[in-house]
Amino acid sequence: MAASSDDMSKNLTIRRFKDGDNRPEAWSDQIFQASWTHKCPTYIHRTPPCQGSCPAGEDIRGWLDIVRGIEKPTGDLDWQEYAFRRSTTANPFPSIMGRVCPAPCEDGCNRNQLEDRVGINAVEQFIGDTALEKGYTFDAPGADTGKKVAIIGGGPAGLAAAYQLRRIGHACTIFDDHEELGGMMRYGIPGYRTPREVLDGEIKRIIDMGVETRMNTRVGKDVPMADVEKEFDAILWALGAKSGRALPIPGAEAENCITGVAFLEAFNQGRLQHVSGKVLVVGGGDTSIDVASVARRIGKITESHEKDRPEYVVLGQTAHDVASTAKRHGADVTLISRHPVTNMTAAEHEVQDALREGVEIVGSVDPIEVIKDENGRAKAIKVCKMNEAGTERIEGSEYEIECELIVSAIGQTGDFTGIESMANDRGLIDAGKNYEVPGKPGHFVAGDIVRPHLLTTAIGQASIAVDTICTYLAGKELGKRPKVDVHHFDLLDKLRETNHEPEVLDVKVGQIRGTSEANFAVHNYEDRSDKEIATSDLLYLGHFEHEPRYKRDHIDVHADEVLGHFQERIVALDEATAKKEAERCMSCGMCFECDNCVIYCPQEAVKRTPKKDATTGRYVYTDYSKCIGCHICKDVCPTGYIEMGMGE
Ligand SMILES: Cc1cc2nc3c(=O)[nH]c(=O)nc-3n(C[C@H](O)[C@H](O)[C@H](O)COP(=O)(O)OP(=O)(O)OC[C@H]3O[C@@H](n4cnc5c(N)ncnc54)[C@H](O)[C@@H]3O)c2cc1C
Ligand code: SF4
Ligand code: SF4
Repeated sequence: MAASSDDMSKNLTIRRFKDGDNRPEAWSDQIFQASWTHKCPTYIHRTPPCQGSCPAGEDIRGWLDIVRGIEKPTGDLDWQEYAFRRSTTANPFPSIMGRVCPAPCEDGCNRNQLEDRVGINAVEQFIGDTALEKGYTFDAPGADTGKKVAIIGGGPAGLAAAYQLRRIGHACTIFDDHEELGGMMRYGIPGYRTPREVLDGEIKRIIDMGVETRMNTRVGKDVPMADVEKEFDAILWALGAKSGRALPIPGAEAENCITGVAFLEAFNQGRLQHVSGKVLVVGGGDTSIDVASVARRIGKITESHEKDRPEYVVLGQTAHDVASTAKRHGADVTLISRHPVTNMTAAEHEVQDALREGVEIVGSVDPIEVIKDENGRAKAIKVCKMNEAGTERIEGSEYEIECELIVSAIGQTGDFTGIESMANDRGLIDAGKNYEVPGKPGHFVAGDIVRPHLLTTAIGQASIAVDTICTYLAGKELGKRPKVDVHHFDLLDKLRETNHEPEVLDVKVGQIRGTSEANFAVHNYEDRSDKEIATSDLLYLGHFEHEPRYKRDHIDVHADEVLGHFQERIVALDEATAKKEAERCMSCGMCFECDNCVIYCPQEAVKRTPKKDATTGRYVYTDYSKCIGCHICKDVCPTGYIEMGMGE
């Protein structure tokens, strides 16, 4: 029987139509009438842009929230260790990253819309250094799965993969052709940027999880690839790009034209102690700056024996003895780049350091020929000026720059001796979307050998490759990766950690009409972190006061003091300053417990969750019987965590 109109007006709280109306109005006209709507607040978790821009996909907002004391550890874990555990979920090298990652996360940071980015990698360094100081270790590995993975290459990609594989319980063995692990972190980047005690500490933590290593073992030479395929269930190729590209110009075959990676490896192995004349570096990226800065530090020797020429040392024919360093003095080092100095790809602060340390940098010139002497040795390089855009040479602008050593740092490829079948036509390895090697089941790839880039990129790829390896080892089909592919904060994990895990839904419960009273759901919460970024337009930026960034101190080394200067230049933040810097984070996309919604709600509909039930992301709740949908809470939420939803 149909209800009478009297009954209807008694039972319904909101009448959709006035008596006599026979056409509904558009809902969009009814919503946002300033004072009320049919919508109520829901809580939406999105990925912050810092995390979205970190190639390793670190939960940056999460560890900043821990450092500043908003998110607290449970049990007797101290906050420093809790922050370390959160940051290393994605990336096991916080100390190294904090020092040398060029921090693309900071370019993405929403705080750039206010006054200046959050100094993310300064806080990351603090977390990493504290962990080393306090001797934190990683959790014990996962239960043994009985599967074995070979990792070819013990650089950041290989080591990060070993870490992620051991967490899951897969056995893994790293093959590396060097004496020590670290790849370019040890044999490329000089120790005054990645201090060896820091590197050793971060690597040891990974190896202590039960990673087998076969050092001084080159796959393709010391061990045939077929043997590795036979012994292991899967192979991860993390070879890096250790072959420097020679200059593609006439005369570049001269013996004193060497590559930047070879120069740096000889220096980092202690074989190269000085140069012997004017050094000319061709490049513009990180490697070229490192070569030039190292050359300034090791200096030159004018009266040296012919056998001591740097090219012979770099090529492994001889090595300098330490005593020879007593006679060295400042080396003349020039770096040339096709691009204007302001557009070079090296990090801006590294360029400034090199200039201060006495490296001459000439932008907008292109090398066209190596000029050789009667013995076939390079004595100069002929260059041509480039137009401002760096796209065309200026005819008639050629000139020569004299030099005794030419170092080419213009790019790298892999060394495929003995493993030629893995190479593509660019001297790298092809990668599928999930870092599987197309057409080679059981083979996976990560790091510079996919495309030379950054440490954090190699580490992020390794993590995805490990997911893919797990899927392969489980005999499953590869699925789609999330649109925002990072290590997401998981509210359910947080609820479990704090003993607030919702009950498992009892299937016998019968028909469900709403879950507001039930404990088998996380209410009014939506996790969109795998597809949406908390962009600055979602935030209430007016909430945040102007606060300049707390920067790390930097030791400026000047040209007259650079010879023999191998100390670190970055001075780490102390604990109090690291906390202050973390407090500048606006916690984009996640509640940071500011109380604005509780204070401003005119209906007192938004309440603090009782302390015993509250966790990160569940700090407030809404009493929907009081909410009139005025959306004030959404407007005053600084972090963009509240969205008006649910109602029509
Ligand atoms: C001079 C220089 C400075 C840099 N500075 C920075 C910086 O400041 N910040 C930054 O983020 N990135 C920097 N990079 C880039 C960064 O170092 C690389 O992106 C990163 O190291 C790549 O990691 P990977 O594990 O893929 O390779 P690698 O680090 O190259 O490691 C690969 C390892 O595999 C070994 N190997 C190769 N072939 C075999 C084989 N057949 N068998 C056994 N072992 C093998 C290699 O010898 C090496 O030890 C720099 C690179 C260079 C060269
Ligand atoms: S690894 Fe680099 S990009 Fe990622 S959080 Fe650290 S500094 Fe930022
Ligand atoms: S303010 Fe914080 S959460 Fe937002 S982008 Fe910057 S570091 Fe990330």
